Amino acid sequence: ITKIGVLTSGGDAPGMNAAIRGVTRYAIEQGLSVTGIIRGYEGLLSHEIMPLDRRDVGGIIHRGGTMLRTARCLEFMEEKTQKEAAAYIRENDIDALVVIGGDGSMRGAQALSKQGIPTIVIPGTIDNDMDGTEYTIGFDTTVNTVLQCVNRIRDTAYSHDRVAVIEVMGRHAGFIALHAGLAAGAEAVLVPEHDVSLEDLCMHLNESHRMGKMSSIVIVAEGAMKGSDVYDYIKEHTYLEPNLTVLGYVQRGGSPTARDAIMASLFSEKAIDCLLSGTYNCVIGQIGETIAATPYTEAPRYHFPLDENMYRLVHQLGR
Ligand code: ADP
Repeated sequence: ITKIGVLTSGGDAPGMNAAIRGVTRYAIEQGLSVTGIIRGYEGLLSHEIMPLDRRDVGGIIHRGGTMLRTARCLEFMEEKTQKEAAAYIRENDIDALVVIGGDGSMRGAQALSKQGIPTIVIPGTIDNDMDGTEYTIGFDTTVNTVLQCVNRIRDTAYSHDRVAVIEVMGRHAGFIALHAGLAAGAEAVLVPEHDVSLEDLCMHLNESHRMGKMSSIVIVAEGAMKGSDVYDYIKEHTYLEPNLTVLGYVQRGGSPTARDAIMASLFSEKAIDCLLSGTYNCVIGQIGETIAATPYTEAPRYHFPLDENMYRLVHQLGR
């Protein structure tokens, strides 16, 4: 191969820029040329591309978001559109495509590979919920951002004897809620992986209150329940005073942590090494201590669910 394309797709995540930089510079180092595609799969249809050299990706390693922009492109679900995109990739002599994104983006990459385009995926999503890897770029930054926010909210919860209900991102997975919850010493976390009983939650909160705990923190993943429903229930069914914070998009932005910038760089190197050795249609990932490349079709065999021990521990330590 002589020329690769790179795009970011789906929800932006801190560390995507570090991955764009890593992919571009390592590929150039190996003698390849690099084309950036703007706005994910949409750019393949609207023909928005730009050559990337070393300098084009300077000064971005520490920046959140993605310099290539990203998009959710619903048209790309259709085979006709995928064929059109594949044709455009061929017209531009792009031999292989690096896709930085989440689960959906991986399915898009797989669809392109079915049209004969070699693709490789670098996991980039704050949710940490992709098959084929234990870690996705952006997760550590988000967990740390949530932790900082919770610690600020805690000051008021403590001073006013409140139950702080904090809604965090995670539509399908509770990794953010669980990890931030354990780090912040939350009393309870509500995650989509577990059935939520607000009755049990209130019993738990009341009992802690009786034992002298005047304030507490409850972290709710958006996919488990709306924070406002948890707030309403506590307000109606207990004598405790809740307050509610929906963290929203502060969780998605900001400079990547060291871990995210490092993982982005290591995943990038692996992605390019794979393409050069003729290994493609794979998702790069951390599996145990190694950085692996797993074929899309095998990825579901490497599904890493929420850590049940951590889930139990949050609730044991939080009272
Ligand atoms: P993420 O990659 O963060 O999970 P999405 O689920 O929104 O984000 O997916 C990003 C994009 O990937 C979608 O907008 C679409 O263009 C593409 N995509 C998702 N699922 C598929 C699919 N089954 N087939 C083809 N393309 C898909």
